[in-house]
Amino acid sequence: MAAMTRLQLLQHHRPFQVSKSSVIMAKFAQLPTSSYQNCCGNRFRRISSGRSFCSGSDQIQIQTVESGVLAGSSSSIVGDLLDYLNESWTQFHATAEAKRQLIAAGFHLLNENEEWDLKPGGRYFFTRNMSSLVAFAVGEKCRVGSGFHIIAAHTDSPCLKLKPKSASSKSGFLMVNVQTYGGGLWHTWFDRDLSVAGRVILKGSGGSFLHKLVKVKRPLLRVPTLAIHLDRTVNSDGFKPNLETQLLPFLGRKMEESSQDFKEKNSVKDGHHPLLLQILSKELDCNSDDIVTVELNVCDTQPSCLGGGNNEFIFSGRLDNLASSFCALRALVDSCKLPSDLSNEDAVRMIALFDNEEVGSGSVQGAGAPTMFQAMRRITASLATGYVGEGSVERAIRQSFLVSADMAHGVHPNYPDKHEEHHRPELHKGLVIKHNANQRYATSGVTAFLFKEVGKIHNLPTQEFVVRNDMGCGSTIGPILASGVGIRTVDCGIPQLSMHSVREICGKDDIDTAYKHFKAFYQSFSSVDRKLNVDI
Ligand SMILES: [Zn+2]
Repeated sequence: MAAMTRLQLLQHHRPFQVSKSSVIMAKFAQLPTSSYQNCCGNRFRRISSGRSFCSGSDQIQIQTVESGVLAGSSSSIVGDLLDYLNESWTQFHATAEAKRQLIAAGFHLLNENEEWDLKPGGRYFFTRNMSSLVAFAVGEKCRVGSGFHIIAAHTDSPCLKLKPKSASSKSGFLMVNVQTYGGGLWHTWFDRDLSVAGRVILKGSGGSFLHKLVKVKRPLLRVPTLAIHLDRTVNSDGFKPNLETQLLPFLGRKMEESSQDFKEKNSVKDGHHPLLLQILSKELDCNSDDIVTVELNVCDTQPSCLGGGNNEFIFSGRLDNLASSFCALRALVDSCKLPSDLSNEDAVRMIALFDNEEVGSGSVQGAGAPTMFQAMRRITASLATGYVGEGSVERAIRQSFLVSADMAHGVHPNYPDKHEEHHRPELHKGLVIKHNANQRYATSGVTAFLFKEVGKIHNLPTQEFVVRNDMGCGSTIGPILASGVGIRTVDCGIPQLSMHSVREICGKDDIDTAYKHFKAFYQSFSSVDRKLNVDI
């Protein structure tokens, strides 16, 4: 942790008042001053990179920071990742926070609806649906037909989402109707302190509407398990909840009194509990009647933190795939911090963060849409001055390379046989290169070699993964983009445990290794790529 931040933490270790609104406003240029709770209920004001850690008291937190055990030193990005995870409860917040950081780093916001006037040496980005984002830095030596060096990841994670009509009641409880999103380990959502976050459309002035993000930080919802006394065989037969009827969170107690006020609270407005709309309006500092529509995820309120005997792990929700998204974002920003960083670069350095990977990527904000390809084509066209020759976009694509970054399965100490005997990635041992002969991953022998060569030059370890032949294999956006765009691709990821649980685990060191490998990719890939020619 940087000296300034440590000082701020020491000065502000008393509990702070929670800021009135946690809404992320349309402007992101200012540093955030939001506050949030740690897992023990202590509140900290976020100043520039204030963090919450899972310690027993304020004093312990400060001692731990002082001892230098926690990440956040100038050479580590782990502390900043914890901030990013705690800020990014939803795909919308993950994109908005990335947007804020890009603007703070001097990237120019582009509008997809307007003409682009791009320059070599320039740094740009755009968002789509506030849940996907493409950012890029143009090398000073970049010309029409130059290649793109891209790292792609995703912003979404499995979760519960509120149905359009979320209000119902059962046995004296106000229930919230939800639909499952993606392949979550749904049993992990039971007995967690849950809340809601997402976006709302509000009535604006003069008949206009406003798009705002919202996050309710206090525990609001709960999905209780059934007591063992009422479910004696659960440990022997397994926990198999019905996802339609038994995974519903409750919001509160149903009011039985007959006063008008209670009657109103029991009524349903626009398909949602008035109590929920009241809570949202308080967060948004508006009248609940101004809320026109909502799009909300159910979220775990427990903050991301370090854990393990030596604080060597990260315990958090949404590591898949915000850990990759953040490492890619920081690698891009840090690889072109100084104007001189791009002076010898002849490629475009890019990140592409997509929504809806967990449900197959088939949406306007998903990797199945031509967002990235369209950006590549527009950048190539915008750089054109005078005669450009035949096949400029195709030439650019053939010289391009994509790193598809998504979390990988580390070997589980209690289930080692779930991994193929000779391909058991371990936590803390570097990025995992994912292989699959049936193209569930887009890695080829050549793309794996080139990406590992980048790591080798910078002394960064890598590991290999293939799934057992008697098990099914997951997939990523790698094959979608490789086949859709026709771009050379390597699939890789940070090893983790508990993938798709509400609370996942990865190794702290692997975050820094991934960040360094991604940064090295931007800085070194042009020279590495020149050393091997496959087709000519
Ligand atoms: Zn993923």
